[in-house]
Amino acid sequence: MTNKFCIFCGLPPSSKNKEHIIPEWLLNLTGVPNRKGKFGIDFSTGKEREFSVDSFVFPACQKCNSEKSNLESKVKNIILDILDRKEIIAENFNFLLDWFDKVRVGVWLGFEQLDKNKMFVPSFYINQRIAMSDRVLVIFDYDGIGNGYTISGVDTIIFKFMPSAFLLKINNFVFMSVSNLFILSKKVGFPIPKKIDITNMNEFLIKQMLASKNDNITQWFHDDFPFPDLIVGQVIFDASLAIKNTALYDKDFIKKMISEEYLIEFEKIINKSTDNMNLKFKTKILQIINGHFKVNDKKDLIKWNRTRIKEESITAIELLIHLYKIQFELYNDSSYKYNSDHKKIIKEINKTFHTQTYQIKKSANDFIRKNKKIN
Ligand SMILES: [Zn+2]
Repeated sequence: MTNKFCIFCGLPPSSKNKEHIIPEWLLNLTGVPNRKGKFGIDFSTGKEREFSVDSFVFPACQKCNSEKSNLESKVKNIILDILDRKEIIAENFNFLLDWFDKVRVGVWLGFEQLDKNKMFVPSFYINQRIAMSDRVLVIFDYDGIGNGYTISGVDTIIFKFMPSAFLLKINNFVFMSVSNLFILSKKVGFPIPKKIDITNMNEFLIKQMLASKNDNITQWFHDDFPFPDLIVGQVIFDASLAIKNTALYDKDFIKKMISEEYLIEFEKIINKSTDNMNLKFKTKILQIINGHFKVNDKKDLIKWNRTRIKEESITAIELLIHLYKIQFELYNDSSYKYNSDHKKIIKEINKTFHTQTYQIKKSANDFIRKNKKIN
């Protein structure tokens, strides 16, 4: 049996086609496309992989590949505008958030395919993870850190287990992409589950939905989370949840937040005139500013926070420690109930998280001591 699969749909690719996980336009934007790059640690050997950046390609069906080319061309222009420090209209963040889902899961699948001893058999592929759960994008503008791209935060066991958060540096900007079930819902007052039974990595059972209070948005990630230039996010939920819990979802503030194109279908659910369980609902683009959130209509311009002072800039390593904490919190979410098959992995995660954080903190201190702040 061949273990070659299309990174988008998971089926054996029908025709020979390669997908660049980091697209060619991004390689060209950040340097010479055939330069060497680092591609994570092979967990079986403990060694860091290094090869030409344009060889980070994996099999994909022709069809799947061309379906995503539209997204790539849209996102290329959005990223170019961000790098030029232009303001972006809200609806464009839908594409950008999709793209970060694609790259995050693509990197996870890519590293998995490169590992000699596979830790997991992937139970989902890119297509099953684009716009599936709440997602957040945090952007830092680090003027002067120089060109290049770097993927970070993907060498942890948690990321292997749960590819929910990573960092991507593109020239002077660092993007933190985070996506997981209900991560934003609980911050903006959407219904949340009491318990989620994780049966395998792609299947989960939501036991009981509860109303949430939207009083903890100021606790965004951590108290000491560095002041970013932009935080945007989107709540995504299944129609089936709203069908089973209409009373929880029949709220004016929820209707105001649902993205325009889903409103008719959402009303049908509230009025119990549909049982279309397969739909996913998305909210408008939410921007988190000073502990509050702003709901943006499609054509609203998203304003950047340009008030961050230089002293608040942090080193890349400090940012990585924050990402580790977020990964650890996501997996440690008290509403999750993992099945017994996960026990071994969970033990390993708990063991390595502290060693990994200790090591990274130590190198951060060495780094700071050498006074090489990235700002
Ligand atoms: Zn495919």
